[in-house]
Amino acid sequence: MDFTREYAIGMDAGNDLSYREEFYIKEDGIYLDGNSLGLLSKRAEKSLLDLLDSWKHHGIDGWTEGDNPWFYLSEKLGKEMAPIVGANPEEVIVSGSTTVNLHQLVSTFYKPAGKRTKILADELNFPSDIYALQSQVKLKGYDPEEHLVQVRSADGHTLREEDIVGAMTDEIALIVLPGVLYRSGQVLDMEHLTAEAHKRGIEIGFDLCHSVGSIPHSLSDWDVDFAFWCNYKHLNGGPGSTGGLFVNKRHFGQVPGLAGWFSSRKDKQFDMEHVLTAAEDAGAYQIGTPNIFSMAPIIGSLSMFNEAGMERIREKSLKLTGYMIELIQHELDGHGLILRNPLDEKKRGGHIYLEHPEAARICKALKAEGVIPDFRAPNGIRLAPVALYNTFEEVWKTVQILKGIMEEEKYKQFENKRGVVA
Ligand SMILES: *Cc1c(COP(=O)(O)O)cnc(C)c1O
Repeated sequence: MDFTREYAIGMDAGNDLSYREEFYIKEDGIYLDGNSLGLLSKRAEKSLLDLLDSWKHHGIDGWTEGDNPWFYLSEKLGKEMAPIVGANPEEVIVSGSTTVNLHQLVSTFYKPAGKRTKILADELNFPSDIYALQSQVKLKGYDPEEHLVQVRSADGHTLREEDIVGAMTDEIALIVLPGVLYRSGQVLDMEHLTAEAHKRGIEIGFDLCHSVGSIPHSLSDWDVDFAFWCNYKHLNGGPGSTGGLFVNKRHFGQVPGLAGWFSSRKDKQFDMEHVLTAAEDAGAYQIGTPNIFSMAPIIGSLSMFNEAGMERIREKSLKLTGYMIELIQHELDGHGLILRNPLDEKKRGGHIYLEHPEAARICKALKAEGVIPDFRAPNGIRLAPVALYNTFEEVWKTVQILKGIMEEEKYKQFENKRGVVA
Protein backbone atom coordinates (compact mmCIF):
# COMPACT_ATOMS: atom_id res chain seq x y z
CA MET A 1 0.00 0.00 0.00
CA ASP A 2 0.99 3.64 -0.23
CA PHE A 3 -0.29 6.55 1.77
CA THR A 4 -1.85 8.65 -0.98
CA ARG A 5 -5.47 9.56 -1.46
CA GLU A 6 -5.33 7.89 -4.87
CA TYR A 7 -4.55 4.60 -3.21
CA ALA A 8 -7.71 4.92 -1.07
CA ILE A 9 -9.81 5.80 -4.12
CA GLY A 10 -8.39 2.76 -5.88
CA MET A 11 -9.33 0.56 -2.93
CA ASP A 12 -12.91 1.84 -3.10
CA ALA A 13 -13.07 1.22 -6.83
CA GLY A 14 -11.82 -2.33 -6.38
CA ASN A 15 -14.28 -3.18 -3.64
CA ASP A 16 -17.56 -4.80 -4.55
CA LEU A 17 -19.32 -4.59 -1.19
CA SER A 18 -21.04 -1.26 -0.85
CA TYR A 19 -24.46 -0.36 0.39
CA ARG A 20 -23.48 3.27 0.78
CA GLU A 21 -26.18 4.54 -1.60
CA GLU A 22 -28.77 2.80 0.55
CA PHE A 23 -27.94 4.89 3.63
CA TYR A 24 -28.68 8.45 4.60
CA ILE A 25 -25.19 9.91 4.71
CA LYS A 26 -24.49 13.60 5.17
CA GLU A 27 -22.54 14.82 2.19
CA ASP A 28 -20.12 16.97 4.12
CA GLY A 29 -19.52 14.58 7.00
CA ILE A 30 -17.70 11.36 7.78
CA TYR A 31 -19.70 9.15 10.09
CA LEU A 32 -17.48 6.82 12.12
CA ASP A 33 -19.84 6.07 15.00
CA GLY A 34 -21.63 3.04 13.56
CA ASN A 35 -20.46 0.99 16.53
CA SER A 36 -22.53 3.18 18.84
CA LEU A 37 -25.49 4.07 16.66
CA GLY A 38 -25.63 2.82 13.08
CA LEU A 39 -27.07 5.07 10.38
CA LEU A 40 -30.57 4.93 8.93
CA SER A 41 -30.90 3.04 5.67
CA LYS A 42 -33.65 3.51 3.12
CA ARG A 43 -34.76 -0.08 3.64
CA ALA A 44 -35.06 0.43 7.40
CA GLU A 45 -37.00 3.64 6.86
CA LYS A 46 -39.36 1.84 4.51
CA SER A 47 -39.97 -1.07 6.85
CA LEU A 48 -40.74 1.35 9.68
CA LEU A 49 -43.17 3.34 7.54
CA ASP A 50 -44.77 0.12 6.30
CA LEU A 51 -45.47 -1.00 9.85
CA LEU A 52 -46.86 2.39 10.77
CA ASP A 53 -49.13 1.96 7.78
CA SER A 54 -50.23 -1.48 8.98
CA TRP A 55 -51.53 0.19 12.15
CA LYS A 56 -53.28 2.82 10.06
CA HIS A 57 -55.02 0.20 7.91
CA HIS A 58 -55.56 -2.74 10.21
CA GLY A 59 -55.97 -1.35 13.73
CA ILE A 60 -56.07 -4.27 16.17
CA ASP A 61 -56.07 -6.76 13.30
CA GLY A 62 -52.48 -5.75 12.54
CA TRP A 63 -51.50 -8.35 15.15
CA THR A 64 -52.36 -11.10 12.67
CA GLU A 65 -52.75 -9.34 9.31
CA GLY A 66 -50.57 -7.39 6.89
CA ASP A 67 -47.12 -8.20 5.53
CA ASN A 68 -45.52 -8.46 8.94
CA PRO A 69 -48.19 -9.46 11.47
CA TRP A 70 -47.03 -8.01 14.80
CA PHE A 71 -47.82 -11.13 16.83
CA TYR A 72 -45.18 -13.15 14.96
CA LEU A 73 -42.62 -10.43 14.26
CA SER A 74 -40.18 -11.30 17.08
CA GLU A 75 -40.05 -14.91 15.88
CA LYS A 76 -39.78 -13.92 12.23
CA LEU A 77 -36.89 -11.55 12.91
CA GLY A 78 -35.26 -14.14 15.15
CA LYS A 79 -35.16 -16.54 12.20
CA GLU A 80 -33.73 -13.86 9.94
CA MET A 81 -31.10 -12.94 12.50
CA ALA A 82 -30.01 -16.53 13.12
CA PRO A 83 -27.46 -16.64 10.25
CA ILE A 84 -25.86 -13.45 11.52
CA VAL A 85 -24.99 -15.10 14.83
CA GLY A 86 -24.60 -18.65 13.49
CA ALA A 87 -27.61 -20.15 15.21
CA ASN A 88 -30.52 -22.40 14.36
CA PRO A 89 -33.63 -20.32 13.51
CA GLU A 90 -35.56 -21.31 16.64
CA GLU A 91 -32.63 -20.40 18.92
CA VAL A 92 -32.93 -16.64 18.31
CA ILE A 93 -35.61 -14.17 19.27
CA VAL A 94 -35.75 -10.40 18.73
CA SER A 95 -37.06 -9.02 21.98
CA GLY A 96 -36.22 -6.81 24.95
CA SER A 97 -33.00 -4.85 25.18
CA THR A 98 -29.44 -5.81 25.99
CA THR A 99 -29.75 -5.14 29.68
CA VAL A 100 -33.24 -6.65 30.01
CA ASN A 101 -32.14 -9.75 28.07
CA LEU A 102 -29.08 -10.08 30.28
CA HIS A 103 -31.35 -9.98 33.34
CA GLN A 104 -33.68 -12.48 31.75
CA LEU A 105 -30.94 -14.95 30.82
CA VAL A 106 -28.97 -14.69 34.03
CA SER A 107 -32.13 -15.05 36.09
CA THR A 108 -32.70 -18.30 34.20
CA PHE A 109 -29.16 -19.71 33.95
CA TYR A 110 -27.70 -18.62 37.29
CA LYS A 111 -28.54 -21.44 39.69
CA PRO A 112 -26.13 -21.22 42.58
CA ALA A 113 -25.89 -24.54 44.41
CA GLY A 114 -23.44 -26.11 46.85
CA LYS A 115 -19.99 -24.65 46.34
CA ARG A 116 -20.87 -23.15 42.94
CA THR A 117 -22.35 -19.78 43.84
CA LYS A 118 -20.36 -17.18 41.91
CA ILE A 119 -20.67 -15.43 38.56
CA LEU A 120 -17.51 -14.85 36.55
CA ALA A 121 -17.27 -11.66 34.48
CA ASP A 122 -14.40 -9.29 33.63
CA GLU A 123 -13.23 -5.91 34.81
CA LEU A 124 -13.40 -4.28 31.37
CA ASN A 125 -17.06 -4.89 30.54
CA PHE A 126 -19.63 -2.19 29.94
CA PRO A 127 -21.11 -0.82 33.20
CA SER A 128 -24.70 -1.87 32.47
CA ASP A 129 -23.66 -5.53 32.31
CA ILE A 130 -21.84 -5.27 35.60
CA TYR A 131 -24.76 -3.48 37.31
CA ALA A 132 -27.14 -6.17 36.07
CA LEU A 133 -24.87 -8.98 37.27
CA GLN A 134 -24.48 -7.31 40.67
CA SER A 135 -28.23 -7.08 41.05
CA GLN A 136 -28.73 -10.71 39.97
CA VAL A 137 -26.22 -11.83 42.60
CA LYS A 138 -28.04 -9.73 45.23
CA LEU A 139 -31.41 -11.15 44.21
CA LYS A 140 -30.07 -14.61 45.08
CA GLY A 141 -29.11 -13.30 48.53
CA TYR A 142 -25.36 -13.02 47.93
CA ASP A 143 -22.89 -10.17 48.24
CA PRO A 144 -21.59 -9.04 44.81
CA GLU A 145 -18.25 -8.06 46.38
CA GLU A 146 -17.61 -11.73 46.91
CA HIS A 147 -19.89 -13.48 44.43
CA LEU A 148 -19.26 -11.45 41.30
CA VAL A 149 -15.71 -12.31 40.24
CA GLN A 150 -14.20 -9.95 37.65
CA VAL A 151 -11.17 -11.24 35.73
CA ARG A 152 -8.39 -8.67 35.79
CA SER A 153 -6.84 -7.21 32.69
CA ALA A 154 -3.04 -7.34 32.69
CA ASP A 155 -2.66 -4.22 30.52
CA GLY A 156 -5.88 -2.36 31.33
CA HIS A 157 -7.22 -2.82 27.77
CA THR A 158 -7.39 -6.46 26.86
CA LEU A 159 -8.11 -9.79 28.51
CA ARG A 160 -5.95 -12.90 28.32
CA GLU A 161 -7.92 -16.03 27.62
CA GLU A 162 -5.60 -17.97 29.96
CA ASP A 163 -6.49 -15.59 32.80
CA ILE A 164 -10.19 -16.15 32.14
CA VAL A 165 -9.75 -19.91 32.04
CA GLY A 166 -7.66 -19.70 35.21
CA ALA A 167 -10.57 -18.01 36.96
CA MET A 168 -13.00 -20.83 36.05
CA THR A 169 -12.85 -22.43 39.48
CA ASP A 170 -15.26 -24.87 41.09
CA GLU A 171 -16.94 -21.91 42.83
CA ILE A 172 -18.18 -20.49 39.51
CA ALA A 173 -21.80 -21.19 38.61
CA LEU A 174 -22.03 -19.03 35.47
CA ILE A 175 -19.81 -16.99 33.13
CA VAL A 176 -20.83 -13.82 31.25
CA LEU A 177 -18.30 -12.14 28.95
CA PRO A 178 -18.30 -9.77 25.98
CA GLY A 179 -17.70 -11.12 22.45
CA VAL A 180 -15.84 -7.95 21.49
CA LEU A 181 -14.62 -5.53 24.17
CA TYR A 182 -16.31 -2.16 23.81
CA ARG A 183 -13.14 -0.14 24.25
CA SER A 184 -10.10 -1.95 22.84
CA GLY A 185 -12.23 -3.84 20.30
CA GLN A 186 -10.55 -7.13 21.30
CA VAL A 187 -12.36 -10.24 20.02
CA LEU A 188 -12.50 -12.96 22.65
CA ASP A 189 -12.15 -16.55 21.49
CA MET A 190 -15.73 -17.54 22.26
CA GLU A 191 -15.33 -21.08 20.98
CA HIS A 192 -12.29 -21.78 23.14
CA LEU A 193 -13.77 -20.16 26.24
CA THR A 194 -17.00 -22.10 25.82
CA ALA A 195 -15.12 -25.40 25.52
CA GLU A 196 -13.05 -24.60 28.62
CA ALA A 197 -16.13 -23.59 30.62
CA HIS A 198 -17.97 -26.75 29.65
CA LYS A 199 -14.98 -28.94 30.58
CA ARG A 200 -15.43 -27.56 34.08
CA GLY A 201 -19.20 -27.95 34.13
CA ILE A 202 -19.89 -24.19 33.89
CA GLU A 203 -22.45 -22.56 31.59
CA ILE A 204 -21.36 -19.53 29.61
CA GLY A 205 -23.05 -16.62 27.83
CA PHE A 206 -21.77 -13.73 25.73
CA ASP A 207 -22.73 -10.11 25.25
CA LEU A 208 -22.51 -9.54 21.49
CA CYS A 209 -23.26 -5.80 21.43
CA HIS A 210 -19.98 -4.96 19.72
CA SER A 211 -19.59 -8.13 17.72
CA VAL A 212 -23.01 -8.69 16.14
CA GLY A 213 -23.06 -7.34 12.59
CA SER A 214 -19.33 -6.79 12.77
CA ILE A 215 -17.81 -10.28 12.95
CA PRO A 216 -19.33 -13.67 12.07
CA HIS A 217 -20.35 -15.99 14.90
CA SER A 218 -21.10 -19.70 15.08
CA LEU A 219 -22.97 -19.78 18.37
CA SER A 220 -24.56 -23.18 17.74
CA ASP A 221 -21.37 -24.87 16.57
CA TRP A 222 -19.38 -23.34 19.41
CA ASP A 223 -22.06 -24.69 21.73
CA VAL A 224 -22.45 -21.37 23.56
CA ASP A 225 -25.22 -21.60 26.19
CA PHE A 226 -26.75 -18.18 25.62
CA ALA A 227 -26.04 -14.75 24.14
CA PHE A 228 -27.68 -11.34 23.92
CA TRP A 229 -27.09 -8.12 22.00
CA CYS A 230 -28.47 -4.79 20.87
CA ASN A 231 -29.50 -4.07 17.30
CA TYR A 232 -28.82 -0.35 17.16
CA LYS A 233 -25.02 -0.49 16.81
CA HIS A 234 -23.53 -2.35 13.83
CA LEU A 235 -26.97 -3.66 12.82
CA ASN A 236 -28.43 -0.18 12.22
CA GLY A 237 -31.83 -0.82 13.85
CA GLY A 238 -32.26 2.75 15.11
CA PRO A 239 -32.03 4.41 18.55
CA GLY A 240 -33.27 2.08 21.26
CA SER A 241 -34.25 -0.59 18.77
CA THR A 242 -35.31 -3.95 20.20
CA GLY A 243 -32.49 -6.31 21.18
CA GLY A 244 -31.87 -9.96 20.45
CA LEU A 245 -31.01 -13.12 22.31
CA PHE A 246 -29.87 -16.67 21.66
CA VAL A 247 -30.56 -19.75 23.73
CA ASN A 248 -28.89 -23.02 22.78
CA LYS A 249 -31.53 -25.60 21.91
CA ARG A 250 -30.03 -27.95 24.52
CA HIS A 251 -31.65 -25.64 27.03
CA PHE A 252 -35.12 -25.51 25.51
CA GLY A 253 -37.86 -26.40 27.91
CA GLN A 254 -36.62 -24.42 30.92
CA VAL A 255 -39.03 -21.97 32.45
CA PRO A 256 -37.63 -18.46 31.94
CA GLY A 257 -36.49 -16.63 35.07
CA LEU A 258 -38.62 -13.60 34.21
CA ALA A 259 -41.84 -14.92 32.74
CA GLY A 260 -44.64 -12.96 31.11
CA TRP A 261 -47.49 -13.78 28.79
CA PHE A 262 -45.30 -13.41 25.71
CA SER A 263 -43.20 -16.30 27.07
CA SER A 264 -46.16 -18.50 26.11
CA ARG A 265 -46.44 -20.96 23.32
CA LYS A 266 -48.08 -18.82 20.63
CA ASP A 267 -51.16 -21.02 20.30
CA LYS A 268 -51.73 -21.05 24.07
CA GLN A 269 -51.16 -17.37 24.83
CA PHE A 270 -54.73 -16.24 24.34
CA ASP A 271 -56.19 -19.11 26.36
CA MET A 272 -55.53 -16.72 29.27
CA GLU A 273 -54.67 -19.51 31.70
CA HIS A 274 -52.85 -18.81 34.95
CA VAL A 275 -50.43 -21.64 34.35
CA LEU A 276 -47.79 -20.69 31.79
CA THR A 277 -47.14 -23.07 28.92
CA ALA A 278 -43.77 -21.64 27.89
CA ALA A 279 -42.72 -21.63 24.23
CA GLU A 280 -40.47 -24.55 23.39
CA ASP A 281 -37.80 -22.37 21.79
CA ALA A 282 -36.01 -19.06 22.41
CA GLY A 283 -39.42 -17.37 22.22
CA ALA A 284 -39.92 -18.38 25.87
CA TYR A 285 -37.54 -15.59 26.86
CA GLN A 286 -39.88 -12.83 25.75
CA ILE A 287 -41.74 -11.07 28.53
CA GLY A 288 -44.49 -8.69 27.41
CA THR A 289 -45.94 -7.02 24.33
CA PRO A 290 -43.17 -6.30 21.82
CA ASN A 291 -42.23 -2.73 20.87
CA ILE A 292 -43.31 -3.09 17.28
CA PHE A 293 -42.00 0.25 16.02
CA SER A 294 -38.64 -0.37 17.65
CA MET A 295 -38.39 -3.63 15.73
CA ALA A 296 -39.66 -2.33 12.41
CA PRO A 297 -36.37 -0.85 11.09
CA ILE A 298 -34.61 -4.14 11.79
CA ILE A 299 -36.70 -5.80 9.04
CA GLY A 300 -35.16 -3.59 6.38
CA SER A 301 -31.73 -3.46 7.91
CA LEU A 302 -31.35 -7.22 8.28
CA SER A 303 -32.16 -7.81 4.65
CA MET A 304 -28.91 -6.06 3.73
CA PHE A 305 -26.84 -8.12 6.15
CA ASN A 306 -28.31 -11.35 4.88
CA GLU A 307 -27.82 -10.30 1.29
CA ALA A 308 -24.20 -9.29 1.82
CA GLY A 309 -23.33 -12.12 4.24
CA MET A 310 -21.25 -11.76 7.38
CA GLU A 311 -18.12 -13.26 5.80
CA ARG A 312 -17.93 -10.53 3.17
CA ILE A 313 -18.78 -7.86 5.72
CA ARG A 314 -15.98 -9.08 7.98
CA GLU A 315 -13.52 -9.20 5.10
CA LYS A 316 -14.15 -5.58 4.18
CA SER A 317 -14.26 -4.47 7.80
CA LEU A 318 -10.81 -5.94 8.42
CA LYS A 319 -9.47 -4.18 5.33
CA LEU A 320 -10.90 -0.86 6.52
CA THR A 321 -9.62 -1.13 10.08
CA GLY A 322 -6.28 -2.55 8.91
CA TYR A 323 -5.89 0.37 6.51
CA MET A 324 -6.78 2.84 9.25
CA ILE A 325 -4.21 1.32 11.60
CA GLU A 326 -1.46 1.55 8.99
CA LEU A 327 -2.32 5.17 8.25
CA ILE A 328 -2.42 6.05 11.94
CA GLN A 329 0.97 4.43 12.49
CA HIS A 330 2.44 6.22 9.49
CA GLU A 331 0.87 9.68 9.82
CA LEU A 332 0.29 10.21 13.53
CA ASP A 333 3.51 9.03 15.05
CA GLY A 334 4.80 11.29 17.83
CA HIS A 335 1.47 12.87 18.72
CA GLY A 336 0.84 10.79 21.81
CA LEU A 337 -2.11 8.86 20.38
CA ILE A 338 -1.88 5.28 21.60
CA LEU A 339 -3.58 2.54 19.60
CA ARG A 340 -5.15 0.03 21.99
CA ASN A 341 -6.50 -2.55 19.54
CA PRO A 342 -4.87 -5.94 19.38
CA LEU A 343 -2.91 -5.97 16.09
CA ASP A 344 -3.68 -9.59 15.24
CA GLU A 345 -6.60 -9.62 12.77
CA LYS A 346 -8.32 -12.52 14.52
CA LYS A 347 -8.43 -10.45 17.72
CA ARG A 348 -9.60 -7.19 16.10
CA GLY A 349 -13.27 -6.25 16.09
CA GLY A 350 -14.90 -3.56 13.99
CA HIS A 351 -13.63 -0.36 15.55
CA ILE A 352 -10.36 1.44 16.26
CA TYR A 353 -9.60 2.64 19.75
CA LEU A 354 -7.09 5.40 20.46
CA GLU A 355 -6.16 6.90 23.78
CA HIS A 356 -4.88 10.40 24.46
CA PRO A 357 -5.09 12.61 27.58
CA GLU A 358 -6.86 15.27 25.45
CA ALA A 359 -9.30 12.78 23.90
CA ALA A 360 -12.46 14.70 24.85
CA ARG A 361 -11.41 17.81 23.01
CA ILE A 362 -9.76 15.97 20.16
CA CYS A 363 -13.22 14.46 19.55
CA LYS A 364 -14.77 17.93 19.62
CA ALA A 365 -12.21 19.15 17.11
CA LEU A 366 -12.94 16.15 14.86
CA LYS A 367 -16.67 16.91 15.02
CA ALA A 368 -16.00 20.56 14.16
CA GLU A 369 -14.32 19.28 11.00
CA GLY A 370 -17.13 16.94 10.08
CA VAL A 371 -15.80 13.63 11.44
CA ILE A 372 -18.13 11.89 13.90
CA PRO A 373 -16.09 9.82 16.37
CA ASP A 374 -17.16 8.36 19.68
CA PHE A 375 -15.62 9.57 22.93
CA ARG A 376 -15.28 7.18 25.85
CA ALA A 377 -14.30 8.73 29.18
CA PRO A 378 -11.75 9.38 30.39
CA ASN A 379 -9.38 9.32 27.42
CA GLY A 380 -10.69 7.14 24.59
CA ILE A 381 -11.50 7.89 20.94
CA ARG A 382 -13.37 5.21 19.00
CA LEU A 383 -13.45 5.31 15.20
CA ALA A 384 -15.56 2.73 13.40
CA PRO A 385 -15.22 2.54 9.62
CA VAL A 386 -18.08 0.12 8.91
CA ALA A 387 -18.22 -2.17 5.93
CA LEU A 388 -21.69 -1.34 4.61
CA TYR A 389 -21.35 2.40 4.30
CA ASN A 390 -17.87 3.78 4.99
CA THR A 391 -15.16 4.11 2.35
CA PHE A 392 -11.39 3.82 2.26
CA GLU A 393 -11.27 7.44 1.15
CA GLU A 394 -13.15 8.47 4.30
CA VAL A 395 -10.58 6.61 6.37
CA TRP A 396 -7.80 8.41 4.54
CA LYS A 397 -9.48 11.82 5.02
CA THR A 398 -10.12 11.15 8.70
CA VAL A 399 -6.48 10.43 9.40
CA GLN A 400 -5.46 13.58 7.50
CA ILE A 401 -7.95 15.65 9.51
CA LEU A 402 -6.72 14.13 12.76
CA LYS A 403 -3.15 14.83 11.73
CA GLY A 404 -4.03 18.50 11.15
CA ILE A 405 -5.74 18.70 14.53
CA MET A 406 -2.71 17.23 16.31
CA GLU A 407 -0.02 19.14 14.40
CA GLU A 408 -1.72 22.49 14.76
CA GLU A 409 -3.08 21.69 18.26
CA LYS A 410 -6.54 22.75 17.06
CA TYR A 411 -8.13 20.80 19.92
CA LYS A 412 -6.91 23.49 22.31
CA GLN A 413 -9.81 25.69 21.19
CA PHE A 414 -12.16 23.31 22.98
CA GLU A 415 -12.72 22.38 26.60
CA ASN A 416 -11.40 18.94 27.58
CA LYS A 417 -14.73 17.81 29.05
CA ARG A 418 -17.21 15.22 27.90
CA GLY A 419 -20.73 16.07 26.69
CA VAL A 420 -23.86 14.57 28.29
CA VAL A 421 -23.98 11.49 26.06
CA ALA A 422 -20.38 10.93 25.06
C1 LIG B 1 -24.34 -0.87 24.06
C2 LIG B 1 -24.13 -1.82 25.16
C3 LIG B 1 -25.09 -2.01 26.15
C4 LIG B 1 -26.35 -1.21 26.15
O1 LIG B 1 -27.40 -1.87 26.77
P1 LIG B 1 -28.89 -1.37 26.54
O2 LIG B 1 -29.68 -2.23 27.42
O3 LIG B 1 -29.20 -1.50 25.09
O4 LIG B 1 -28.92 0.07 26.94
C5 LIG B 1 -24.84 -2.95 27.14
N1 LIG B 1 -23.69 -3.67 27.15
C6 LIG B 1 -22.74 -3.51 26.21
C7 LIG B 1 -21.49 -4.33 26.25
C8 LIG B 1 -22.92 -2.57 25.19
O5 LIG B 1 -21.98 -2.39 24.28
